[in-house]
Amino acid sequence: MIKADTFRGRTVAVFGLGRTGVTAALSLVAGGAIVWAWDDNRESREAAQQQGVPLKNLEKADWSEVDDFVLSPGVPHHLPKPHWSAVAAKAAGVPIICDIEILAREVAAKPERARPKIIAITGTNGKSTTTSLIGHILKTCGKDAQIGGNIGRGVLDLDRMHSGTYYVIELSSYQLERTQSLRANAAIFLNLSPDHLDRHGSLKEYGQAKQAVFNNQTPADTVVVGVDDEYGKTLCTELKVRNGRRIVPISARRASGHGVSVLGGKLFCNMSKKSIEVCDLRKATALEGQHNWQNAAAAYAAVSAFDLDPKEIGEAILSFPGLAHRMETVGTLRNVRFVNDSKATNADAARQALSSYENVFWIAGGVAKEGGIEPLKDLFGNVRAAYLIGEAAQGFSSTLDAAQRPHHNKKTLEMALLCATKDALESGVKDPIVLLSPACASFDQFKNFEIRGDAFRAQVQKLMGIEATDAQKISTNGEGV
Ligand code: ADP
Repeated sequence: MIKADTFRGRTVAVFGLGRTGVTAALSLVAGGAIVWAWDDNRESREAAQQQGVPLKNLEKADWSEVDDFVLSPGVPHHLPKPHWSAVAAKAAGVPIICDIEILAREVAAKPERARPKIIAITGTNGKSTTTSLIGHILKTCGKDAQIGGNIGRGVLDLDRMHSGTYYVIELSSYQLERTQSLRANAAIFLNLSPDHLDRHGSLKEYGQAKQAVFNNQTPADTVVVGVDDEYGKTLCTELKVRNGRRIVPISARRASGHGVSVLGGKLFCNMSKKSIEVCDLRKATALEGQHNWQNAAAAYAAVSAFDLDPKEIGEAILSFPGLAHRMETVGTLRNVRFVNDSKATNADAARQALSSYENVFWIAGGVAKEGGIEPLKDLFGNVRAAYLIGEAAQGFSSTLDAAQRPHHNKKTLEMALLCATKDALESGVKDPIVLLSPACASFDQFKNFEIRGDAFRAQVQKLMGIEATDAQKISTNGEGV
């Protein structure tokens, strides 16, 4: 754990006692702060208390005594409606921060030579893949890399820092809007598309929150910007005009005279006079699809700031094992492949899987985002049939009707999988894929996308078991399974 020494003697209120809230409270206590922690949920409070977190009812507290307020990133302070604790903090003029800000102050308090390296990753889609890939590359190259933030461990739960540590941190816009002091040695802005607008109000404000990833960088630091969308292209131009940092544009779509790009599946680095071919991404089985090539380009651009051998980086990219729930192959049944892309919680994320395969039996639905699957219409040619689940089924059904694509409302994931499997087995098409890529949040039927993906994987394995014992059941009528 990282102790919050910079908060010694300060009174810090902490609201939201989930994983990161508890870690932040314990780190603050260890650093010598006076901690007042609270949560609306009694069970969360009790669980936190058992771990040594001091509680104080913040609804009744005197906020004029509070110096800082650590608010869990999931709890709004502005839109759609500020939480009561944020209202109280604002009324008392108490700054709202998060665990990333605490880490940033701890790092800044160290002399330059003792500081760890920080690589920060943000964007609408691809953050976790890129974060894990960077962690994998650095570890493969022998570095002490630790990943955390919006993925895996909370940042204050990471191992204590030394000058050789590389903290690879995934950052959501919710965390960034409560972080002021972070200085990333390499910062990545992957892409931007409409998401979380209920919290940020507009795409402009959402983008602005994410741009905080570049705050406090110096000319010695590296800026990596994805230029495959309009927002990124403009941002890159603006950043070039604004300051003299090392700016590396990355693209999975077009060659660039300067930067890192993917051409015909090969990853090229054009940062010096000589262009370097880093590796052939078509051999990276866990990085299927053009979107993952963008992630690989970003990862390369970031780690190349730390004097690693390009050949070693290329080999590490090819050996990346991939992440669960992101276009993860979870089984095959005769010629049918099952792909779990449960992490695709918006249309833009689902676009990646739909454009990577030609004959898709598509399971979609859950709680839809604004616009539903309308933005995916251009890819419906790859969809043999859709199997709809959850709240979004009716809306998605209208979009598919209008596009004259076959679809079935199956209500549950299990039923959708059975029907899709049967249709795929009987279709006679080349390389059929039964794809769970919901383009929706999961919480109408599942606690989170991981549990949804795990359920899909377990059901596929069950089908494979049934197939192994009685092939007739699935192939002929599908009713027995
Ligand atoms: P995040 O952490 O930003 O949500 P993940 O790496 O977990 O991103 O990927 C989530 C989903 O987004 C995946 O299902 C994948 O289909 C899609 N995706 C991954 N990388 C990209 C990218 N660079 N651009 C667009 N979509 C992507």
